[in-house]
Amino acid sequence: MTYEAFCVAEGCGAESGPHDEQADAQDWALRHAGRTGHDLFRRVVTDHARVTREA
Ligand SMILES: [Zn+2]
Repeated sequence: MTYEAFCVAEGCGAESGPHDEQADAQDWALRHAGRTGHDLFRRVVTDHARVTREA
């Protein structure tokens, strides 16, 4: 799974970048909130499906 957080404060546009651990994206959001006072983030979790062709 890949975890990302995006600040949704108007005109900000900061994003965590992809992280393998949810805690890392969360830490980024907490640091960003502490720095800026922005307190709403859009979180995106991406999972990957590996498929195999039927024989
Ligand atoms: Zn922000």
